[in-house]
Amino acid sequence: MKKNKIIVAIVFIAFVLALLFNESILTKAYPVYKVIGKDKIEESVKNFKTKESKHFIVRYQDSDSKYVSLIIDTAEKHYYGVIKDLGYAPKDKSVIIVYSNPDEMNKDFSLAKGENAMGIYLNGVISIESPALWIPSGQDVTKVFQYEGPVVHEFTHLVVDDIAKGNYPTWFTEGIALLEEYRQDGYEWGKDLSYNGKPYTFDQLENNFDSLDEMLAYKRAFQVTKAISDKFGMETIREMLRDLGSGMSIESSFYKETGLKLDTFVNNVKG
Ligand SMILES: [Zn+2]
Repeated sequence: MKKNKIIVAIVFIAFVLALLFNESILTKAYPVYKVIGKDKIEESVKNFKTKESKHFIVRYQDSDSKYVSLIIDTAEKHYYGVIKDLGYAPKDKSVIIVYSNPDEMNKDFSLAKGENAMGIYLNGVISIESPALWIPSGQDVTKVFQYEGPVVHEFTHLVVDDIAKGNYPTWFTEGIALLEEYRQDGYEWGKDLSYNGKPYTFDQLENNFDSLDEMLAYKRAFQVTKAISDKFGMETIREMLRDLGSGMSIESSFYKETGLKLDTFVNNVKG
């Protein structure tokens, strides 16, 4: 509790500094706020076992010990690829918690009961469902986990969040996470899905992402983000993340980096 009081004081000081230096309050206070959330999540798995590699810390229970090296190998295999693409390396090792009970994972990561995710990123921590829960028996666990698993996707969310300091629309972090899956593994998300009519507009992605059809919204986020990197290169994605981290809006950042209006660009990306 004492620690929390200190953190509250730090958040307050961050607010004051942000006001004084006229920078975004959100991007100043967010990294501190994130520490509180991270502590809370780590507290809820304090009885889990721990295995560390060069860049990751895996927390798991006995029943998942057989998957730990697969998880570490997959994460380490793609670590340098992701940080090179996004131009940023986390300063601490990244924590990956393996849950064999999806309800527990949803509770610790604030996901509503009944919702389901193979992986979640929140407050600087990655959680993944035990491979035992989603890889059907008889399949090649290593192959399926490396190709379809959540590690690259969630680690990308972690890096994006660190650079942009919480200041990004959901479609952009999902788009970058799906783009990294594509760039790292050639895994193209939602390839066979087709839009019923027109793809979602910029306005829908920006303001209503969570209430859209999830599959189609993710597909559109991927297409749009890939179109930005195809046309302007990963350098522009990197610059946009840095702009967001300094408190700029995504529209201003895109205009600054490309001279184009983001809504027009997005609405013209082929569906
Ligand atoms: Zn995601």
